[in-house]
Amino acid sequence: LLIEYNRSMSAALGLLRLQQVDSRIDQLEAELERIRAELGNNDLAASAREAMESAGANQSLAENGRQQAEQQASAIRTKLKQAEGALYGGKVQNPKELQDLQAEVASLNKHLIGLDADELAWMEKLEAADAHCRATSVRLEEVLHKLGAEHTQLEQRRSELLRKKDSLLSERAATAEAVKPAWHQTYEGLRRTRRGVAVTAVEDGACAACGTALTPATQQNVRHAQDLIPCPSCGRILFAD
Ligand SMILES: [Zn+2]
Repeated sequence: LLIEYNRSMSAALGLLRLQQVDSRIDQLEAELERIRAELGNNDLAASAREAMESAGANQSLAENGRQQAEQQASAIRTKLKQAEGALYGGKVQNPKELQDLQAEVASLNKHLIGLDADELAWMEKLEAADAHCRATSVRLEEVLHKLGAEHTQLEQRRSELLRKKDSLLSERAATAEAVKPAWHQTYEGLRRTRRGVAVTAVEDGACAACGTALTPATQQNVRHAQDLIPCPSCGRILFAD
């Protein structure tokens, strides 16, 4: 049937069918390429993981600061207890010694107030760091979950496209068989040099691919010729509906 059509209508018809199949294969290839790129792209997860690690480092820093302030305060409290014990214990009677002890207790108390303020400040920082840590961890989980779902979808789409491509390749082989070898060669050459489009329609008296106006004689030729008629400008094979 195809060959009969070819004879009665236009020499380009067989190549047009080939072009249609090839264009669909090209589209599938382009989508497969995009899917390959997306599957390989895990920037989002990497940056979420990085944010979580940096939040964890901040948290450790705040926890260390808090612990240090706490230990220093505890050491001062021990000293303060000793000084107060000596001051109020009744064993020390010498006024000069008592004065020194009073001064020491006052100084230790002052130091302690500063350290308690430090500890409080570190605790506030730690609280903020904890919250940030939790937020970044939730974010990473969300990203990984989303990527997991997207990944599955992309894999499904890829299998579907590969199945379609297989069936198109069989269709292509059958279609190519009906085309004269010399014409097939011309077609392949044009596909390579004309961005995949070797066959194009005559639309409103012009080449649909490059827009060049065609003479009525050329248009007539395209409709009835038994040979391939190229566009005089871009060289693509013309066909008429
Ligand atoms: Zn053209």
